[in-house]
Amino acid sequence: MSKLTKEQLAEVQEYIQSLPEEEREPKLKEIMTQFEEQTPQCPFCLMSEGKIQTTRVYEDESFLAVLEINPVNKGHTILFTKRHIKSFGDFNDLEIENIGKIMKKLSVSVSKFGEGINIIDSEGKLSGQRFEHFTINFIPRIKDDNVKIGWQGKPSNEEELNKVRELIIEGIPKDKPKVVSTPIDEEKLKREFSKFKKNLP
Ligand SMILES: [Zn+2]
Repeated sequence: MSKLTKEQLAEVQEYIQSLPEEEREPKLKEIMTQFEEQTPQCPFCLMSEGKIQTTRVYEDESFLAVLEINPVNKGHTILFTKRHIKSFGDFNDLEIENIGKIMKKLSVSVSKFGEGINIIDSEGKLSGQRFEHFTINFIPRIKDDNVKIGWQGKPSNEEELNKVRELIIEGIPKDKPKVVSTPIDEEKLKREFSKFKKNLP
């Protein structure tokens, strides 16, 4: 996390306080993400910033898709957020809105390179995520390509499945009711924070 001066923190706080209550937490999270020091070694951040050369196949305001430089099969494409976020759970509204359309388009195009496709999102160390940056791999599959993606299921029972069902349903975040509120001056906010960024030690 970058170090904010007391004044900068106070300004952030003041801005957050001026928002309707239900918008405060998500906005604060979004702002703080901008301040988080982007690990210089994160290749996806470097690609987003154009500091690493890539073969781009898709770009919009929140996503970038590039060809994997060491493809599993021809056509292997990686889609990732421009922001340094770890998971689907960290998506902002724009990213949520865009991801489905982009995935559909890329899957149609990339699957033409094979007779099947794996679309893989890995989150967390145990899943194989190497950099804590949200990515989706589109891997076209061809016969005898020797790619191993698989798992061994363990037997369960009705009681256990029902318990887990309850937990999952309980854990699904509830949609917040839409509240009509004063519009946020996004442009002003962006200006303020780029000023902060420049002043950082
Ligand atoms: Zn990153």
